[in-house]
Amino acid sequence: MNKPSIKPTAKDFQTTKDRRRLLPSVDLVLRSASKLVEFWGRSRVSAQVKLELAAIRKNVSTKEIGPISVEAVLESVGAALSVQEQTSTLRQTINLTGIVLHSNLGRAVLPENAITAVSTVAGGPVNLEYDLSTGQRGNREEALEGLICKLTGAEAATVVNNNAAAILLTMNTLAQSKEVPLSRGEMVEIGDSFRIADIMERSGCTLIEVGATNRTHLRDFEQAINNRTGLIIKIHPSNYSISGFSKNVSESQLSGLAKRHQIPFVVDVGSGNLLDFSRYGLPREPTVMMSLESGADIITFSGDKLLGGPQCGIIAGRADLIDQMRKNPIKRALRIDKMTLAALLEVLKLYRYPEKLLSDLPTLKYLNRSQNDIRLQAQRVAPILAEVLPSHYRVETDECASQIGSGAMPIESLPSFGIKITADSDELLRRVAEVMRSLRCPVIGRIKDGKFQLDLRCLDRESLFLEQLSELKGSLR
Ligand SMILES: *Cc1c(COP(=O)(O)O)cnc(C)c1O
Repeated sequence: MNKPSIKPTAKDFQTTKDRRRLLPSVDLVLRSASKLVEFWGRSRVSAQVKLELAAIRKNVSTKEIGPISVEAVLESVGAALSVQEQTSTLRQTINLTGIVLHSNLGRAVLPENAITAVSTVAGGPVNLEYDLSTGQRGNREEALEGLICKLTGAEAATVVNNNAAAILLTMNTLAQSKEVPLSRGEMVEIGDSFRIADIMERSGCTLIEVGATNRTHLRDFEQAINNRTGLIIKIHPSNYSISGFSKNVSESQLSGLAKRHQIPFVVDVGSGNLLDFSRYGLPREPTVMMSLESGADIITFSGDKLLGGPQCGIIAGRADLIDQMRKNPIKRALRIDKMTLAALLEVLKLYRYPEKLLSDLPTLKYLNRSQNDIRLQAQRVAPILAEVLPSHYRVETDECASQIGSGAMPIESLPSFGIKITADSDELLRRVAEVMRSLRCPVIGRIKDGKFQLDLRCLDRESLFLEQLSELKGSLR
C-alpha cells in the first residue's frame, strides 16, 4: 500500500482501500501550525487538531469526500477556536427588549462610579477585611451596613449573594426545624421554575400553607401558629397580581400577630426600592422603609432589581436577628465578594443624593425617560436602519410599552417608543432578529404580533448601535 503523502491527491482517495490512512497525522498538522500555536497556545491547538482529524476520519469512512490538506485542517482548527472564544465570552449587548431589568441580560446596568470601583478592587489588593487605622483585621461589611441602615432606617444589615440566598439564610437562622406559615397566595415562583417555597424548605423549616390562593385571612395565620412556629413570612407578589375577589393580610396585621407570639416577622420585599417612585411619575411601588415601618423585624431584597446595583441580597432589620445570621456558618458560604461589595457601596452612596440619582443611576434613568424623548430618538434612528435593510423589510417608528422587569410592578407598563420592522414572512423576521444578534455588539429585540420590535427606552449607546448597522447590509442581502 502507498505511504500517505503530505497531501493525498484525489486519485489516492479513489484507489486506497482505507482512505483514513491518507489523512495527515496530528504531528504533521502541528508542525505547520506555528501561527495558531503562537496565538492560542500549543495545548488548545493540539486538542482541537485531534478533534478536527477525528471528525474528518469519521466522515471519510462513511462518505465520499475529497483529499484533506494540512492547510484545510489548520483553517477549520483556527475557525473553531475563534468560535469557541466568542461563545465562551460574556458579550456586551444592546437591550432593546423593552424590559428594563432583564434577568437574562444581567438585570441592572451599573452606574459609572460603581464600574470604576469594581475595576479598581479587581486589579489589586484592597482593605477588604483590613483596618487601615489599626493594621488589624477589619470587618468587610462595616461601611456597607452603615449605609444601608442610614438609607433604610434599619437597626442592622448584612448582604449575601442574592435575594434567594437572603431568604435561605434568614429561614435557616430563624426557623430551622420549625414551622413557617405562608399564604397560598404568596407561593411565588421567581422564574426559571425556582420557587421561594422550595428554597425555604431547603433551609430546614417546614412550610405550613395557609389560606386559599385568592384569599387569606388573619385567622388563617392565627390558627396555624403554635409552639413550633419559627416565624411569619410575607412574600411580595413580585411577578404577578391577584385581583378580583381577593384578600391578603396586611404587613401590620401580621407584624402584630408575630409580636403577640414573640416570633419574628419577615418580609421578602423582592425588588427592594429605597425611593418613592411616584415622585418621578412612575407607578407607586412599596418601599423597603414602608415594610420596616409596618413592623417587619427582617426584610430581604435584591440588589440588582429596582435598587439598580450589583447582584446581591440585602437583609436588614433587628440587630439581634442580623447578629444571629452573621454567626450562622451558612453565611460564609453565601458571602459577597470584593467586586460586589465595591459596586454596592458606590450605588448606595448615590442614594445619598436623590436629586442626582436620575442622571447617575442607569436603572432610574431608563425608567424615567419620557415617551417623547424616546420618540425623538426613534425618529433619528429609524431612517438609518431603513437605509441598510433590504427593501423587503418595512421600518416604521411606533408606540410600544416597556416593562420594568424582574418582577417589579408586574402589571404596570411604561409608555415607550420604538422601531417596528415588518416583512412578508415570519422567516424574514426571524432572520433580521438573528442578524441583529450576530452584530459585534449584539442587539436584542423582540418578535411579537408579526413584527420585530426594538424598544429604544434603554438605548443609551446610540452611536455604537448606529456604527455597526452597516454590517447588516452584507448579512441580509
Ligand atoms: C426576584 C425575587 C426573588 C429572588 O431574588 P434574586 O435576587 O433573584 O435571588 C425573591 N423574592 C421575590 C419576591 C422576588 O421578586
